[in-house]
Amino acid sequence: PDNTTDIPDKVRERHEELSRELDDHSYRYYMGAPVISDAEYDTLMLELRGIEEEYPLLVTQDSPTQKVGSPISVDFAAVEHLVRMESLGNAFDLDELGAWADRASAEVPVEAYLCELKIDGLAVDLVYEKGRLVRAATRGDGRVGEDITLNVRTIADVPERLDESVRPAPELLEVRGEVFLPVEAFAELNRRITETGEHTPFANPRNAAAGSLRQKDPRVTATRPLSMIVHGVGAYTPAGSDRERDTVVAGDAEDTTFTSQSQAYALLGEWGLPLSDRYKVVRTMDEVREYVRYYQEHRHEPPYEIDGIVVKVDSFALQRRLGSTSRAPRWAIAYKYPPEEVTTTLVDIKVGV
Ligand code: NAD
Repeated sequence: PDNTTDIPDKVRERHEELSRELDDHSYRYYMGAPVISDAEYDTLMLELRGIEEEYPLLVTQDSPTQKVGSPISVDFAAVEHLVRMESLGNAFDLDELGAWADRASAEVPVEAYLCELKIDGLAVDLVYEKGRLVRAATRGDGRVGEDITLNVRTIADVPERLDESVRPAPELLEVRGEVFLPVEAFAELNRRITETGEHTPFANPRNAAAGSLRQKDPRVTATRPLSMIVHGVGAYTPAGSDRERDTVVAGDAEDTTFTSQSQAYALLGEWGLPLSDRYKVVRTMDEVREYVRYYQEHRHEPPYEIDGIVVKVDSFALQRRLGSTSRAPRWAIAYKYPPEEVTTTLVDIKVGV
C-alpha cells in the first residue's frame, strides 16, 4: 500500500498495540522493574519488526524499532549527552552474526574484531573535565539522560580524578560503560533486604543495579556495591587545548588521539578507568565464533551476569566509515545468549525499586 489507510485495520491496530506495549515495558525496564522477561520483550519486538517489514509505511521515528531506551523520568534533572548514546543490533544465532560480518566486510576491509562480554547492567555516561568527574548520566533516550552524578560518585570503581601518572588528563573526556551489581553482591544484598524487611527482594542483578542507581538518596546507593566497566568513548578535547575549538568525537577524522577500540581501552586504562580484562582482539570470524562459544559454555565464569557477547570492528576509521542506523552502530553487534530462566521468578517476586 502507498497510503496507511490502505493497510488492513487489524494490522494497524496490532502495530499500535505492540508499540504501546513495548514503550510501556521499556519504561518499566529502565526504572528497574520490568514485568516481562527480556526474551518475551524480544519476541514482541520481532513481531513489530515483521509487521514493519511488510508495511514500511508504519515505520515512524516514534516506533520502538527506531528508538533507543526510553524517555527519562521526572525524578532526576535532564542532561544532554555530548555525543549520542546508541543501542546495539542483535544476532540470535551464528548465521545472523556471520551475516553482520559479511555486511561490514562488503563495505570496508575489516582486519580485526574486538570481542567482549555484554554485561547485563545499565549504560552510564561519565564526563571528566580537567581530569575531574563532573557528571554522570543514564542513557535515557540516547540524546537526553538523567543526572545521576551523586549516585555514581558512590561507586568505588569510578575514579573521582583521572590518574595522571602516565599522561596528563585531557581537557574533556566523555566515556560510557556499564554499571552493574556483581552476582555475589546481589545475593548478599537480597539476603540483607530479606532479613531487614527493607523491601521486597530484587528479581535479578540488573534490576537491583537499576533500582540502586536510581535512588533519590545517594546514601542508599552507597550501601549497594555497584561496579562499572567502561566500553566506549564520546567527546574528547586533548590536554591543554581549547574546548570550543578542539572538541572532537573520539575516532572521528579530526581526532588524532584514539585510533581503535583496543588502543582507546589502553589509554582509558592508563587514566585509571575501569576496564574489562576479558576482551580479545581477533583477526577472523572463526576466532569470534570461538569466543562466543567459550562464554556460552562458561557463562558464569565472570563475576557478573552477561546476556551475550559484543563484537566490534576494532579500527575507529572503519567504525566511522560504517556509521550508524537510527538507533545502533553498524560496526558492532550483540550476540545474545538464550535466556537461562523463564519469567516465573519475575512474576512471583514483587520487584523492589
Ligand atoms: P541492548 O541491551 O540489547 O544493547 C545495548 C546496550 O548494551 C548498550 O546500551 C550498553 O549499555 C550495553 N552493553 C553491555 N556491554 C557492552 C559492551 N561491551 N559494549 C557496548 N555496549 C554494551 O539494548 P538496549 O537498547 O539497552 O535494550 C534492549 C534490550 O533490553 C532488549 O533486547 C531486551 O532484552 C531488554 N529489554 C527488556 C525489557 C523487559 O521488559 N524485560 C524492556 C526493554 C528492554
